[in-house]
Amino acid sequence: MLHAPLIGLTTTLPTSKSSGPLADRIQAYVRAVERAGGLPLLVPYGLSDDTLRALYRRLDGLLLTGGGDVSPQLYGQTPIAGLHSLDAARDATELQLARWAADEGSPLLAICRGLQLINVAAGGTLFQDLPSQRPGPIRHDADDQPSEQPVHAVTVTDGSALTACLGATILQVNSAHHQAIDQPGAGLRPTAFAPDGVIEAAELEGHPHYLGVQWHPERMPAEDRSAALFTGLIAAARDAAE
Ligand code: MN
Repeated sequence: MLHAPLIGLTTTLPTSKSSGPLADRIQAYVRAVERAGGLPLLVPYGLSDDTLRALYRRLDGLLLTGGGDVSPQLYGQTPIAGLHSLDAARDATELQLARWAADEGSPLLAICRGLQLINVAAGGTLFQDLPSQRPGPIRHDADDQPSEQPVHAVTVTDGSALTACLGATILQVNSAHHQAIDQPGAGLRPTAFAPDGVIEAAELEGHPHYLGVQWHPERMPAEDRSAALFTGLIAAARDAAE
């Protein structure tokens, strides 16, 4: 039997207000990792640096999940109206994990907020709120629509790791984000775009497997190309563990 790699999933702590739907959202990531052959482990935040480091060293791969907004102060901007669910402790934990994985060649898949987070970790900037800062014909914040339902197309760059993983350069994706990458961080190459030019994926050059997507593949489990992102992470984590 193939070795099942241990995949750390970052989380949002459930609050009494959001524990129902939030728990469902976390479960979608857990199931996607399990289905792809990984052992999912929820990584808490608020750990000491030493404890987080010790935990990270046990992991074979990382999945940075979706959630609220990354604090604009982390990329040198003043917060504007429209931000929501800022969480400094979560930002700090994920930035640390993202930097370790980038520097040490550990496999990482970042989803939605995760893509924004790895961009900030690489020194890039974000649109804090697409509808007010970059209005356009596509409604990227279509979080009220059924998540299996595609909202817009993305075109993936030929020759990218993402194309190799997906086996396709055009796909239809859901869209539940109001932030996006503005200036890409050092070494982080945008590798997919919506028709309006919004960056929908990026990957770290020179790294074996470090990529992020702006859509939610875990909410489209029946879609082969969604599953491919998780099996790609598990395969890379298995390689790294050997
Ligand atoms: Mn989108």
